[in-house]
Amino acid sequence: MKDHSQLNLKLEKDDNRLLKSMKDGNFLVIFEVDTPLANCNIETVTSRYSPFLKAVNSIEGFKSGLAITDRKHSSECMDILDFANEFCLENRSDHLLFISGRNKTKNSIADLIKSCWASGFHNIVPVSGTIYKDETLKNMTGISFYESAEVISSMREDLQNNPLLNIGSVVNPFKYSQETIHTQYYKLIKKLNLGARFVIAQSGWDILKYQELRWYLENRNYFDPCLASITMLSPEKIEKIISGYYRGVFFSPDCLNSLNKESRLSTSQFWAAQWRRFQLYVAGLRWMGYNGVVISGLDSEYQVNIAVSRITSILKDISSFDNWREIYRGFLSRSEMAPYPFKYYIYKNLLEENYFDKAELTVKDVRKCSRKERLTFNFSKLKKELFPGQKRMLNSNDIASSFYLSSKLCPKGMIHGSCGETNHDNTCCLCPAKECLYSRLFRLASWRKNFEPFE
Ligand code: SF4
Repeated sequence: MKDHSQLNLKLEKDDNRLLKSMKDGNFLVIFEVDTPLANCNIETVTSRYSPFLKAVNSIEGFKSGLAITDRKHSSECMDILDFANEFCLENRSDHLLFISGRNKTKNSIADLIKSCWASGFHNIVPVSGTIYKDETLKNMTGISFYESAEVISSMREDLQNNPLLNIGSVVNPFKYSQETIHTQYYKLIKKLNLGARFVIAQSGWDILKYQELRWYLENRNYFDPCLASITMLSPEKIEKIISGYYRGVFFSPDCLNSLNKESRLSTSQFWAAQWRRFQLYVAGLRWMGYNGVVISGLDSEYQVNIAVSRITSILKDISSFDNWREIYRGFLSRSEMAPYPFKYYIYKNLLEENYFDKAELTVKDVRKCSRKERLTFNFSKLKKELFPGQKRMLNSNDIASSFYLSSKLCPKGMIHGSCGETNHDNTCCLCPAKECLYSRLFRLASWRKNFEPFE
């Protein structure tokens, strides 16, 4: 593990330009860049990206920046801070760094975040880390995930002392059962309560789910800035998503049908359809109250310029939410975006209204706990009451222990809530034969009428 204390740190003036723009309500246009593989030549990479970076830095009309990812597709990538230091020589507080918890320890993450701060990178988004395409429970031995909520929790004092330190929280709103969506949102609220200052929604294609997230946060009186990730699709990217390359990202059959039709068009027609889709999503997100977008899949100066001109024109052309909805419906809305038979939405009138105050809740029973689950709970509770010192909790934040279960039942070792990769049928992404621990806990919480441990 790299020791960042040995770096020759370069302090930047006391400022956080991205945070200021978030507070001012500017619309942010951020472009995602993956940290390259460790065996790449850093000078070659930075010179290849140089026109792209120049284009991002010269955007007018929007606050722009980069979002640099860490270990997104491979653990064999460069140290994120080495790359960011070489790549972003100035205005570092325009950018944000995703810090992966994959194979990192509490100390190594704390050291890395301090070094990011000292190097002028003041916008940090801790993520627990992803599972790569071919990984299964069997070949995950020795791989650990340091949970994002744990990172934020350990930084509480730093956050209080440094108002310019801007920590974000990622959520995956593309979940379609009560168990999976509510456990995602509980974890998000927990991270906001711990000190996260903005939200980033993972990428997906269901605009209703983006609105659901906004309404949920408003309903809970959380008004933190919200960014949405958007992936620009290319034929190669579509193939990768279908093959499961990006865990937790999927296309519904209807969505896939439209994309298949588009891929049979000429190259220029295919790209015209993708840019139109991109424009409509950005405009919809803007009208839903998102503070900006994090765009992945673009890596050239030419693409950055097109993206910005498309965003500028659509935001000028569309005058209201209703106006946007009419155009969106004409283009996309007949597609069913949910992965049938899983199609739970917290609100039943999404897209019909713009504002949360008209939201109507969906009424649906939660899947019940089995008799065996209830008996096990009651027996464990009794045992704990009779022998209180026998089993100590692993951590006071460990949700599973609140329901007399062990967090070891989660193969990624999450103790604060579900990861973003839970399968739609509530099973575990690493062990599809078993229910996700957090879906199980949600059912127990619902039976006990006690959701407090989740937050
Ligand atoms: S048990 Fe749930 S939270 Fe844990 S790895 Fe599996 S899907 Fe993710």
